[in-house]
This record gives sequence, C-alpha cells and structure tokens, in this order.
Amino acid sequence: MTACDVVVIGAGPGGYVAAIRAAQLGAKTIVVERAEVGGVCLNWGCIPTKTFVYTAEAYRKLQHAKELGITIDGVVGIDMKAVIKRKEGVIRRNKAGINALFKANGITVMQGDARITAPGRIQVGNETIAAKSIIIATGSSPAQIPGLETDGKHIITSTEALELPEVPKHALIIGAGPIGAEFACIWQAFGAKVTMVEMMPQVMPLEDAEIAGLMEKELIKKGIDVRTETTVAKLEAHATGVHVELKGKKADSLDVDIVLVGIGRKFHSEVVSESPNLGVRLSKRGFIEVDARMETSVKGIFAIGDVTGKTMLAHGASAEGLVAAANATGGHKTMDYRVVPSCTFTSPEVASVGLTEAKAREKGIKVRVGRFPFAASGRAATMGETSGMVKIVADASTDEVIGVHIMGPEAGELIAEAALAMKMEATVAEIAHTIHTHPTLAETLMEAADDYFGLGIHTPPRKG
Ligand code: FAD
Repeated sequence: MTACDVVVIGAGPGGYVAAIRAAQLGAKTIVVERAEVGGVCLNWGCIPTKTFVYTAEAYRKLQHAKELGITIDGVVGIDMKAVIKRKEGVIRRNKAGINALFKANGITVMQGDARITAPGRIQVGNETIAAKSIIIATGSSPAQIPGLETDGKHIITSTEALELPEVPKHALIIGAGPIGAEFACIWQAFGAKVTMVEMMPQVMPLEDAEIAGLMEKELIKKGIDVRTETTVAKLEAHATGVHVELKGKKADSLDVDIVLVGIGRKFHSEVVSESPNLGVRLSKRGFIEVDARMETSVKGIFAIGDVTGKTMLAHGASAEGLVAAANATGGHKTMDYRVVPSCTFTSPEVASVGLTEAKAREKGIKVRVGRFPFAASGRAATMGETSGMVKIVADASTDEVIGVHIMGPEAGELIAEAALAMKMEATVAEIAHTIHTHPTLAETLMEAADDYFGLGIHTPPRKG
C-alpha cells in the first residue's frame, strides 16, 4: 500500500491545479489519471477548439486582405490536416508543461482508473493508496441523449469534430450554447454551410438577451441558418450523411453530411457511485454534491470541476481546485461564485460576468444600464471589427456593478477588467474615472460606464 497526504483523481484543469497547490502547501501528493493529463480542457475542449478558432479568424481576415491593403498572390484555402497537426502540437507542448510542473513540485503521477473504496482508500488496478484527503476531479464527457445518439461518423460530438479530415459540406449543429456556437463560426469560416437549431427562444440561452439578440443577427449575417425554438424530431444516419427532421418554429427536413450534438454532459461520478456504502451524495442529475469548501458529504473527500455540475468551465474547475487543496491540507477556504467570467469564442466573442439584466430584475434589484457600441470605438474601427457592444448592469441604488456583458472583438480579454471590478465591488463611477489607454478596446468599458450616467462622450445623448 502506498501512503500520501492528498490523492487527486483526474488531471484536468481542476485536478492538476489542485495537485500543484496541495504540493505547494507541503502535502505529499499523488495524481491518478486514466487518460491524458490536461483533461478535456487541454485535449478535447478549450485549447484544441481555440486553435481552430484562431485559424478560422486568420482565414476570415485573409479573405478581407484587400481591404487591409494586403495583396495575396495565389489561392488562400484551408488544409484540415495542417490545422489538426497544429492543434496536436499545441496540446503536446502544454501537456509537457503540466508534466514538468508535476515533476518540479514533487508530485507522483499514476496512470489508471481510480475508485474510492472507503474514506481515505483509493484503488487503482492492483494498487491501493491510503490518503488523508482525496480530491475528485474526474470531469465530464458528452452524454448520449435519447433520440440524438451519436455514431462517431456522421452524428458526432465536439471530440470527433476536432478530428474531421475534411470541412463538412453542410453541418447541422444541435444547440446554440458555447460548443455549438463556436463550431458554427469555425465551420462557416472554413467554408461549410451551417444550420443551427436551438430549443430556447434565443441563441446562447444563458447570456443577456440583448447581447444574444445581437449575436443571432451576427450569425445570420455570416450566412448561418439559425433556427431558435426548433428541435430535432428525427435523425437517420445513412452511408453518406444524415436525414434530419426538425420540429418547432422552423420545422423542416434536411439532408446534411454531419450532425454535431453540442448539448449534454455526463458526470464522471462512477469514482464514488460504484461504492454505495461510501455515502458520497450525488444529485438526481448524477453530479457530486459539495459544500462551499468543496467537501462532499463524506469528510476528507472533496470534489471539484465539471463532476460537481457547477460552472462547467475550466477556470471554474481550477478556482475550485485551489479551494479544495487549501481545505484538504488543513486550511479553511470557501468558493465565491459571484464573480465567474465566461467567454464563448465565436466571431465576434461573447463574454460576460455576473447577472444579466433580466436576472437582476427578477431578483428585485433596481437596475440601471450603461452601453457602448464597438461601432464608436476608434480601435475597433482600425481593426475593421465594429460589431457588438459593452453593456454594464448596475444596482441603481448604489451604482455597484452587478453584471457586464460584451459582444465584440477580444471580449474574452476585456471581461477580465469587469471581473476585477466586480470582485472589488467597484461602482460604475470607478470604472468611468479610471483612465484607459487610447486607442484600445478597453476604452469601451469606460465609455459604457460614462453612458450609465448619461455622460458618454462618443455616444448620442441618452433618451431616458
Ligand atoms: P476534465 O477536464 O474533464 O478532466 C477530468 C480528468 O479526469 C480527465 O482527464 C479524465 O480522464 C480523468 N478521470 C475521470 N475519471 C477518472 C478515474 N476514475 N480515474 C482516473 N482519472 C479519471 N471551458 C472553458 O472555461 N473555456 C473554454 O473555452 C471551453 N471550451 C470547451 C470546448 C469544448 C469542445 C468542451 C467539450 C469543453 C470546453 N470547456 C471550456 C469546458 C472545460 O473543458 C471543462 O469545464 C473542464 O475541462 C473541466 O475540468 P475538470 O478538471 O473538471 O475535468
């Protein structure tokens, strides 16, 4: 039997960060991973999709090269083999980085499928590990949804979408959430015809309705066939593609070569569910329940990341990992979910933090809003990327910022300023009075803050 202080199960962005922090805090730490270090984020999620997003953006820009004063001699095209090869290289280098960090922090990595058999006992194959604390960071994977079962060939998940040797001719994307919307923009840029269905009345259903409305217009402008309040009645795979029956607002029948199912995740809770006497409580949906310290219903067993069903974001998993590592080594930390920014890497990006205007009103908060369009930003004009806006939502009784919503170039970078402002409980005036560099995209936040007070310099006077 091997003994240690902390065992982390899963080496995704939750697990590897938790392991490093536990080791930094002096714990003898073992990480068990059954597949690849880096988890979904590095191997099949955030990072590989963003290599595709970067290629798509570069390709889009090259198609407008003439407008930028660039002459191109010859044909510009997409080489999927090279796109995939570049993605693999990025993954390989990042994976080497994580392994180097494990080594530098004295962390032992075990390859294998772990099960918790009793509090403080982990089984990996024939090996038993005794640990003072356990951190479960086993993540999630695409779920098979009845009626939308994938076959890995023509009806696929995001995992297979990252390996397609050719750009689809016509893709149907089910779900206009982050995965669906990102692939819609990637494939459209690569030259595919894209149809996207979403059962909710707006694309990106979790985003502020005004921003989602702008995004829908943008997707339609690109030529993407967006069908909200529409779902799939039937999928019939055949030798060369899929026959699709759609029902709802935009019912139709289509023949496509690829269907991407961009919805539904399965929680990897078998690490505890196969030991029912252990007593780790699961929700009805199958995720592991935790308290604010990221501890499960069993003392000394913590859970973080996707398997807890909370943020379903890599940086959410990492933040939870830091909290769990502190608590697993005798500290006392709690998670603050008030400020968790997110970004969908569409073209342009959509990023947000805090409450949407509708959610704030639902809570009975007296809301006031400031807006600034990228069309009025000098920097956005130099980039030729003037779609979208910044929207600041604040509590009108205190002017404290309670939500920021952005559609526009580099929205994912810009949202960090908003997250810092919210973390520091800043007022809108504090953003307005912070001098921002000119000409930058970040000025749009300052201008939206000025607009909140009806004092926007580059926006027309407010009507009300
Ligand atoms: P995971 O990354 O799923 O890692 C869990 C690890 O545990 C895996 O390596 C798995 O092999 C291992 N494991 C599971 N069970 C066991 C076991 N019993 N024994 C040993 N090992 C085990 N999030 C963002 O924030 N930004 C993005 O841009 C983004 N893009 C995404 C794009 C796609 C296509 C997808 C699918 C997801 C994306 N996400 C994004 C979500 C993000 O990838 C996840 O939220 C994140 O990976 C969750 O981290 P985790 O550590 O909880 O789990």
